Amino acid sequence: MLNFTVGPVMSSESVLKVGAKQTPYFRNDEFSRVMFENEELMKEFVYASDDSRVVFITGSGTAAMEATVMNVFNSEDKVLIVNGGGFGQRFVDLCKLHEIPHDEIRLDFGQNITSKVLEDYDGKDYTGFLVNICETSSCVYYDLDVISEFCTKNDIFLVVDAISSFLANPLNMVENDIDVVISGSQKALACPPGISVIVLGENVIKRVENNTCKSMYFDLKGMLKNGERGQTPFTPAVTILLQINERLKEIKKHGGVEAEIEKVATLANDFRNRIEDLPLEIPHSNLGNSVTSVCCIDSQASDIVDALKQDYDIWVNPNGGEIGEKMFRVGHIGDLTLKDNNKIIDALKDLEKRGILK
Ligand SMILES: *Cc1c(COP(=O)(O)O)cnc(C)c1O
Repeated sequence: MLNFTVGPVMSSESVLKVGAKQTPYFRNDEFSRVMFENEELMKEFVYASDDSRVVFITGSGTAAMEATVMNVFNSEDKVLIVNGGGFGQRFVDLCKLHEIPHDEIRLDFGQNITSKVLEDYDGKDYTGFLVNICETSSCVYYDLDVISEFCTKNDIFLVVDAISSFLANPLNMVENDIDVVISGSQKALACPPGISVIVLGENVIKRVENNTCKSMYFDLKGMLKNGERGQTPFTPAVTILLQINERLKEIKKHGGVEAEIEKVATLANDFRNRIEDLPLEIPHSNLGNSVTSVCCIDSQASDIVDALKQDYDIWVNPNGGEIGEKMFRVGHIGDLTLKDNNKIIDALKDLEKRGILK
């Protein structure tokens, strides 16, 4: 099996090895040391300030999105949400559910955030800004510099869901004045699903401390408190945390976050150059490095997704909704190589020869 979906993705041999072991007991110094190291490496890879903190929630990425909304904001806030697809809509639904006053910036498919788009929201009374910096459903990577400049100017807390783009595109919490970064284990972290990660800047930690969270499991105060001794309030997905540790150390050993981003970018560019000769089109020019949206010209996307899986054992990501009839997505994150790109390109060429891709 060769997995080009956006998550879960392929894990390295060493990460798989950790997953094959018995799950150890965790209320001890040995596990605390692993958690401290995870926290330090996460902070290093998003260029967080020294006083930032990291919490690891046992739950998929949405758990971290929900915990952030519940702990950072309350009914006295007013947040602005970028809604350009399925994940932006999820932030809208979460704010609705938790009664956080909010407005949406609704974008068309493939549209980017520009200063022009943000003009209408300038100088208003917003206190928070929520964005999925890579809107994985459309593969648009929003302009982080424009967003960050707007938030700094308006003194707004900036929350960046980087679940699909952490380790694929650069993210600098200090330079980009980001208050919260959200990530998850099954995207570019290339571990099994089950852990989501929140990096909190020092100003937002104060906010969390003074806010009431009406949930026991998702209360970040408890997680921050326990984190001081390298622990979590409740039993975490211990093995996945050990796998994350292996993966973070592996990245560090191989040149750090910049080398990892470079690797993903190389794979993405190689793939994008090589589909030019095929009857496939990239529907917009606002891509990040983690994933490519690909549109078929005269074939149904689902036929291509199915044929790749059935005949070549290659998995790509189908798309939901109407666009899913034409579009599928190819991820570049996880344990993939240029040789793997050869395999998917050869498979697509073969599908063209067989008259299935047209
Ligand atoms: C994958 C993803 C999530 C999290 O989804 P889960 O299924 O809850 O892990 C959130 N935001 C973005 C941008 C994603 O790509």
